[in-house]
Amino acid sequence: MVLTTTPSTWTAEDGASLYGLDRWGDPYFSVNGRGHVMVQPRGDRGGSLDLVDLVQELQGRDLSLPLLIRFDDILEDRLERLHAAFERAIAQYGYAGRYQGVFPVKCNQQRHVVEQLVESGRRWHFGLEAGSKAELLIALSLVDDPEALLICNGYKDRRYIETAILARRLGRQPVVVIEQADEVARIIAASQELGGAPLIGVRAKLSTRSTGRWGSSVGERAKFGLAVPDLLATVQALEQAGLLGELRLLHFHIGSQINDIAVLKDALQEAGQIYVELTKLGAPMGLLDVGGGLGVDYDGSRTATAASKNYSLQNYANDVVATVRECCAAHGIAVPTLVSESGRAIASHFSVLVFDVLGTARPPGAVPAEQPQEPLMVRNLRETLATINAAPAAGGHASCDTLQEAWNDALKFKDDALAAFRLGYLSLPERAQAEQLTWACAEAIAARLAGLPEGTSIPEDLLALQAALASTYYANLSVFRSAPDTWAIDQLFPVLPIQRLDERPMGLGSFADLTCDSDGKIARFIGTGQEKSLLELHAPRSGEPYWIGLFLAGAYQEVMGNLHNLFGSTNAVHIRLGTGGNYVVDHVVRGDTNAEVLEVMEHDPKQLLERLRLASEEAIGRGHLAISDARRLMAHLRASLDQTTYLAS
Ligand SMILES: *Cc1c(COP(=O)(O)O)cnc(C)c1O
Repeated sequence: MVLTTTPSTWTAEDGASLYGLDRWGDPYFSVNGRGHVMVQPRGDRGGSLDLVDLVQELQGRDLSLPLLIRFDDILEDRLERLHAAFERAIAQYGYAGRYQGVFPVKCNQQRHVVEQLVESGRRWHFGLEAGSKAELLIALSLVDDPEALLICNGYKDRRYIETAILARRLGRQPVVVIEQADEVARIIAASQELGGAPLIGVRAKLSTRSTGRWGSSVGERAKFGLAVPDLLATVQALEQAGLLGELRLLHFHIGSQINDIAVLKDALQEAGQIYVELTKLGAPMGLLDVGGGLGVDYDGSRTATAASKNYSLQNYANDVVATVRECCAAHGIAVPTLVSESGRAIASHFSVLVFDVLGTARPPGAVPAEQPQEPLMVRNLRETLATINAAPAAGGHASCDTLQEAWNDALKFKDDALAAFRLGYLSLPERAQAEQLTWACAEAIAARLAGLPEGTSIPEDLLALQAALASTYYANLSVFRSAPDTWAIDQLFPVLPIQRLDERPMGLGSFADLTCDSDGKIARFIGTGQEKSLLELHAPRSGEPYWIGLFLAGAYQEVMGNLHNLFGSTNAVHIRLGTGGNYVVDHVVRGDTNAEVLEVMEHDPKQLLERLRLASEEAIGRGHLAISDARRLMAHLRASLDQTTYLAS
């Protein structure tokens, strides 16, 4: 982080730029003149909502924070953009085929989300991809469009395969993708027994090297897919069983969040050749499924880094279309229908998690009153503080040097004080004074730095001092429940206050969540070019909420979230833009109650209560507990069972 001094006036645009809203937010999120985050659920097509007003009104409906707000219009807009990009590419390259995508259910299995996608995707015959029997059940029952594809991935036992074969007779289009060599025999046996086959696909293990977190999804040691020898053996086995005529699809997946378009191009070329060869071997084919991996630009930097990607949706579609066309044209083979399984790129943007800050803590900076006969270290610290306050006001470098020296002195005296305490020469109140004076020095330096002329560069060590003064913001949230990837795989999401963007933030901070786990924190933030460990935040005002939004987290977080410390799901709402600046609350999904999370762990809430009732009777009997107190205790316990697992504001 570069902390050069900031402009003296501060506008909402400065806020938008500080939090990157003008980079990653486009076209769905922006800021308005009141300094509030605005949501444009239909992207460029008009209509917007003030997120702060929305949260306020939802709270009025008894939907307490933390609250997951799902904008179904954004989901639809993402689908539109994906299809429009492929349509443009197909027109541009004169591609004699079409695009027909599927949504990988594992990305967000929530009923309302999948239903919305199926509904919005109907006009493109958009289908679903399933990776397990439960997901297959969702896909089979929700997709009733006979033209939509149901891509069946994942490990498949006999029952999974037979289900797919029979679903074909229901009029669905299930494609069973062979991912492991031993699935071939099961598909053949099931087809023979049922006297009918599913549509068959093969997943190729590409040799292309990928990069980033999911780079190991490709290559010889990848978990899924058939290496070329297995691919050939599969074709032969299908041919012998008279099933080669059902081999329709080639699939590959080179991992999620592809950062670098060059990786995709390599994979496309390799897959394109394999497709051509499979056709030459006599398979009818017709479908090329390029898997998932279409990335999301979390920090808006448009670079080939983990939190970003160096290509647009249109670049992606162009590369898929152009590369496949080239491969097929060179061999005079008809181009396939293009399928993608884009999950993250469709589902990330539509949900926003809003949580409240319960309080903050920062190092104590007040100057302690002078005591008679203070120890030397304490006196030294007082002198240092006086030096800082007396440092020349202007004159950039000279004052930076003085401040730097003073800070080094302060740290030295503090260390001396700690050593003296350990050896028994300093009392606890004296140690407290030394610590308080050290922080007072830090604050005084920070105040002097803030007063330096605009653009003065500040030495590195003094920047570290700003960090030492950072506050902890206590968040009404469980990171493990609502943003597990921040903890599990160091994923970055845009996090920012949704109000007061027109106000200069007071200082730096990070978030600590409600769990008792020291990993339960958000302490990595998107920056410009580089991530940062502290975020610029405002001082909460008493009696006024300070709401924080976590954005772009609609993919994977809900299902990966866990019950650590028994914090359950949060409240969730589905919002649709209405007419004339209105909105409609389509669905309300109440968060887990304490009773519900207890039951997940096999506890019986009634039994727990009964045991406490008996314990309180006993305490009443022994005269330790008044009857009225026992009643109050039981009332609290009973009420908690029916309430959400989060703190009431
Ligand atoms: C996870 C997965 C996807 C979705 O990937 P995204 O990066 O979310 O688009 C698609 N296909 C397969 C086989 C997957 O395992």
